[in-house]
Amino acid sequence: MNNVLVIGGDGFLGRWIVELLLRRNSDPDQPNYAISIFDLQQRYFEETLTYYIGDLTQYEDISSAIVKSRAKFLIHTASPPHGLSSKIYWDVNVGGTKNILKACLENDVEKLVYTSSAGVLYDGINDLINVDETASFPEVFHDSYHETKAEAEKIVLEANGQNNLLTCAIRPSAIFGPRDQQLVAGMIKVMERGQTKFQIGDNFNLFDFTYVENVAYAHLLAMDKLSSDPDIKVGGEAFIITNGTPIPF
Ligand code: NAD
Repeated sequence: MNNVLVIGGDGFLGRWIVELLLRRNSDPDQPNYAISIFDLQQRYFEETLTYYIGDLTQYEDISSAIVKSRAKFLIHTASPPHGLSSKIYWDVNVGGTKNILKACLENDVEKLVYTSSAGVLYDGINDLINVDETASFPEVFHDSYHETKAEAEKIVLEANGQNNLLTCAIRPSAIFGPRDQQLVAGMIKVMERGQTKFQIGDNFNLFDFTYVENVAYAHLLAMDKLSSDPDIKVGGEAFIITNGTPIPF
């Protein structure tokens, strides 16, 4: 049995990752998992899932969840939503991720997949067109949310190979799909408030939206492919996830 802990597994993307793991468990041709979730909250109640309620910024919370779940694989999707204070992002995204790494190294975790963001490449001003993973982080980030996502990604990737831990990062852009509370819900609020009278720019900007199940699947593929085999170059790497052709936004 593979013990996997999904950190932030009660959230939008995290729950989809959990559902894909559950789907694998009901397929005799797929690997089986003992699935645990670490989150601030619990909205789903199933006998086959073990929840650990805690706060990533508290080292004891996350380390005891890793010990109790006997997790060998970690998928870390937790982050505060957009629009909060800079301090919360530094505390959770950077401090919380450092806590996870410390606990991984102390408890012989084998694989860590971190959910980053495609926005770690954006400076808030210059368009990004056809960029790939060779692009560097900007000197100045769009906001503290993205700055801290980038800092956490850096820390996670630098830990690849330490104490046999393998790490990689997935960089989705805006995620859409069933149970999304941010993207479409935010657009609906804008419509309800009647904030539709102004257009900034020529309305030909392109933006990359990605379907949530595809993003979740990317995390499972990354977990599968993390390997110490030097011919499989996943460890220490970040991967931009996209549905394909960007659409006007
Ligand atoms: P979400 O808010 O639905 O889920 C995040 C989960 O993390 C929540 O369940 C929340 O309770 C948990 N969490 C937050 N702070 C925590 C803490 N201190 N301790 C423990 N748990 C905590 O967000 P989402 O949209 O599912 O995003 C998941 C990940 O994907 C995040 O890392 C986000 O940065 C990244 N991402 C999201 C999008 C998007 O469009 N939604 C785009 C790019 C990257």
